[in-house]
Amino acid sequence: METPSNPTIELVDIEAVGKICKGKNLITIVDNTFASPYLIRPLDYEGIDLVIESMTKYISGHTDALGGAVIGKTDLITQITLNSLLYLGGIIDPFAAWLITRGTKTMPLRMDKHGKNAMVIAEYLEGQPKVEKVLYPGLDSFPQRDLAKRLFKRGNYGGMLAFEVKGGVEAGRKLLNNLNFIRLAASLGDCDTLIEHPASMTHTEFFISREERMRAGITDGLVRLSVGLENPDDVIADFEQGFKLI
Ligand SMILES: *Cc1c(COP(=O)(O)O)cnc(C)c1O
Repeated sequence: METPSNPTIELVDIEAVGKICKGKNLITIVDNTFASPYLIRPLDYEGIDLVIESMTKYISGHTDALGGAVIGKTDLITQITLNSLLYLGGIIDPFAAWLITRGTKTMPLRMDKHGKNAMVIAEYLEGQPKVEKVLYPGLDSFPQRDLAKRLFKRGNYGGMLAFEVKGGVEAGRKLLNNLNFIRLAASLGDCDTLIEHPASMTHTEFFISREERMRAGITDGLVRLSVGLENPDDVIADFEQGFKLI
């Protein structure tokens, strides 16, 4: 499971899936990168075996290091260590490890602010006439709002949101090209606000057919936002001038 999912911010009921899979000789794996371990704790649910975190994102927090973590029961971790690390060589470099360790010390502070800022920006986008809909687990309009309340801890729904800009691929492309303060990037979880338009950046026809993309819920005007730690007024001001030009 990848939850919240990229880029549609869809949630999986980890508790329900864990219950279904328990005792069935299955290994359940949750990619928890979008939430961070501060906000969602998949291993607290029975039937969940492994959690994956891209430490490149919120755990490190500054987009200056590449790393990942797998957390779970010792026997499974031992198998990963012996079979994969030994032969495939996915070993973190010492400087990245140092940067990530440093990042973990401020992760709670950063996550609190990411969540607060995301809520402000989600509400702003919901009121913006050029936006069709906003997908943020903290909004009452979120399709899986009750599940979001169960999964996310601390009344904080994280820094990731998606919204649908009216006018399809062209409007999405134009909006992103007109932004000055918000940075275009395929990564997330940084101190800076990062924006991504799948239909023109990561999910173009080169990688996936339009039909397949649409089936995955990645519509033409869908934009993904990783809300940073700046004053949200600055992010909103950039959006305002960007929306004016489309
Ligand atoms: C970025 C990301 C990954 C990959 O992590 P890297 O650290 O970039 O290798 C995996 N899952 C999710 C959900 C991600 O956002």
